[in-house]
Amino acid sequence: MQNPHAESKSLESPIQFIKGIGPRRAGVLSEHGIRTVRDLLYYFPYGYIDMQSVEQIGNLKGVADSGKWITAIGKIHRVDLVGRPPRQRVILMLSDETGMVPLIFFRSVNYFKKAFAVGESIAVSGKVTRFRGRTQFIHPSIDRISVGEEETDSKEFINTRGIIPKYGSSGDLKDVNLHVKGLRRIMRGTLDEFCDALEDPLPEELKSRLNLLGLQDAISQIHFPDSEKMLDQARNRLKFDELFSLQLLLALRRQSVREERNGIVFDVHSTFARKLVDSLPFDLTRAQKKVIKDITDDMKSAKPMNRLLQGDVGSGKTIVALIAMLIAVENGYQAAFMAPTEILAEQHYHTFATLLKDLPVNIRLIIGGQGSKLREDILDDVSRGSSSIIVGTHALIQEGVSYANLGLTVIDEQHRFGVAQRLALREKAIGNKEPSLFPHMLVMTATPIPRTLSLTLYGDLDVSIIDELPSDRKPIQSVLFTESQKSSLYRFIRTQASEGRQAYVVYPLIEESEKLDLKAATESYELLRKDIFPDLQVGLLHGRMSGNEKESVMARFNAGEINILVATTVIEVGIDVSNATVMVIQHAERFGLSQLHQLRGRVGRGSQQSYCLLVVPDWLGRQVKGSKTMFMYQDEELEKQKAVRRISTMLSTSDGFKIAEIDLDLRGPGEFFGTRQSGIPELQIANLITDGEVLTLARREAFEIIRLDPHLRSPVHQPLRKYFTQRWMHALALIQVG
Ligand code: ADP
Ligand code: MG
Repeated sequence: MQNPHAESKSLESPIQFIKGIGPRRAGVLSEHGIRTVRDLLYYFPYGYIDMQSVEQIGNLKGVADSGKWITAIGKIHRVDLVGRPPRQRVILMLSDETGMVPLIFFRSVNYFKKAFAVGESIAVSGKVTRFRGRTQFIHPSIDRISVGEEETDSKEFINTRGIIPKYGSSGDLKDVNLHVKGLRRIMRGTLDEFCDALEDPLPEELKSRLNLLGLQDAISQIHFPDSEKMLDQARNRLKFDELFSLQLLLALRRQSVREERNGIVFDVHSTFARKLVDSLPFDLTRAQKKVIKDITDDMKSAKPMNRLLQGDVGSGKTIVALIAMLIAVENGYQAAFMAPTEILAEQHYHTFATLLKDLPVNIRLIIGGQGSKLREDILDDVSRGSSSIIVGTHALIQEGVSYANLGLTVIDEQHRFGVAQRLALREKAIGNKEPSLFPHMLVMTATPIPRTLSLTLYGDLDVSIIDELPSDRKPIQSVLFTESQKSSLYRFIRTQASEGRQAYVVYPLIEESEKLDLKAATESYELLRKDIFPDLQVGLLHGRMSGNEKESVMARFNAGEINILVATTVIEVGIDVSNATVMVIQHAERFGLSQLHQLRGRVGRGSQQSYCLLVVPDWLGRQVKGSKTMFMYQDEELEKQKAVRRISTMLSTSDGFKIAEIDLDLRGPGEFFGTRQSGIPELQIANLITDGEVLTLARREAFEIIRLDPHLRSPVHQPLRKYFTQRWMHALALIQVG
């Protein structure tokens, strides 16, 4: 078949048209997100091997056992198969005019004995070792070099000499012979053919002012660097690109917020709020007071509040939100509070009802599964304005729910919602008495991220942080248990139960098979109930139960009637039962770090000493205990090493900031923030935490460009506009929503 793209050299051509990639390889690559030539060029090495030093064979003695990668170039002099299995090995003698060195191969003997012909020129790289006085290479990397050429073209040295790229190659890639070397070869070919088709999005002026490498050079050097210096420059340029377009995105978002309407001006001297605070059995922390001040300053200004409230689990965000809601209510407006799960919405509803029982405030709950009669009644209430605080799940933004006069929206655990949902709730104010005024918006999250970072990520939001926990809290003790220590685990739970404390036992939810999880949780429930703790009350809670069933189990746990609650991750966010002091996390290795931290945050909410027991397989227990692991994530070991690091982190700290940083590092920002949720695309090469300098620079430049050319209409910005829209179509759609 003729290649229809050969002429145009389009970077959007399917990879299948690249030399060396047929339909099968293309299929596997596309599963790794590599579909077009551009995707392939942007598949960057995860590391490099430095093989810059080429030595003549006669000089190898001098560098033997130095631990350095050395390259030697020569001709194959002999090929020998020696010894018998399993000791069999192939010895290739490599020679140049200064001497001879053996290359030893223990593995793939059948391949190596036939792979190279006597007289063939090759370059080899590896560590030179000494054995019985002789220097040798064991399993070096090899490149074939065209025979008879004196000045060899450097492009032939793709596996040896220079700085060699390492590409991630998982099992399925290897199945189609795309291991590291195959990938290198294909990458070299693709660069040669397509690199000059890359269009540089950055204006010349900016590049020369910031001393940035051109895009073609950067892409070419990131794969096959000429020197460490060039590699640095290439990295720097590509990081800049990523962060710069991210900042452009934020600059555009910020601008669209600016063009919006005024906010409602509230009188923030609320007697309701005062009464609530006076009735609390505790004093607000200094940090809580500080963020309440931020919030009331917003609510009394004519600018609609757009504030992110960050605070670690248990820092007391709910009460802060409630105070803001009472202000809205006393000003004759409604406040809507949206939570990610039904259980959480119900819990908040009950908390609010209890706290406000002496105030003339009508609270309603809107969740799925309410009977039609009840639902009708509630919706009627809400639309007539006879209820003033409305708590619910995303049911709050469904069609058919209309508000009389919405003045404040609060979103709890905002990372569970999308930008679009956040905005949809605000749009519900459309029926307000003064629909031209925007309601205020408070979004809350327990994911603590560094301030500069959150400013960057939530460019259009102001940020307040609750940076202290109530003073009555004792740090939670985190303890590791392995599967084979089950009986001491049970003993521990029993001791706590006998002191009147309660425990959660949580099972992970694996998305592919909800049924299996349910089975694990259900079986464990039966085991604990019948065999282990027949004398105690054991309860079960999972996502498949109806709203009523869930509610009644939670109510019984809350009332202390259930000692041990076996649950799937439905309890992950926000649940607040202060007498629960034990959190057992089964298969802790399967949870993400932030999730583990959230789960741990379910205990330690009162003044009792609390415990988080992490149950892991025996192998992991051993690794965590003896861990001096270097955390170099590679190939198959990758997932295991990450699990070890997650568990070690949980055991060593309860600092939410630290945990979030490590989690961010482990998962990358896309997954961490939820690409879908935040509208933040996956960053490939830049690191939001360690590349602060490039980030700041990119932010300054991007905001300046948008200030001068708000819609990127200037001719010099056309390549930029094109690059930007191509890359972030999806994120742009979100701006349009806003
Ligand atoms: P989160 O920030 O995780 O949402 P919550 O708002 O659920 O935390 O608060 C956790 C618990 O701490 C609740 O039981 C709440 O009543 C209590 N709490 C809130 N503020 C204080 C405080 N200043 N002192 C003591 N306890 C507090
Ligand atoms: Mg909460």
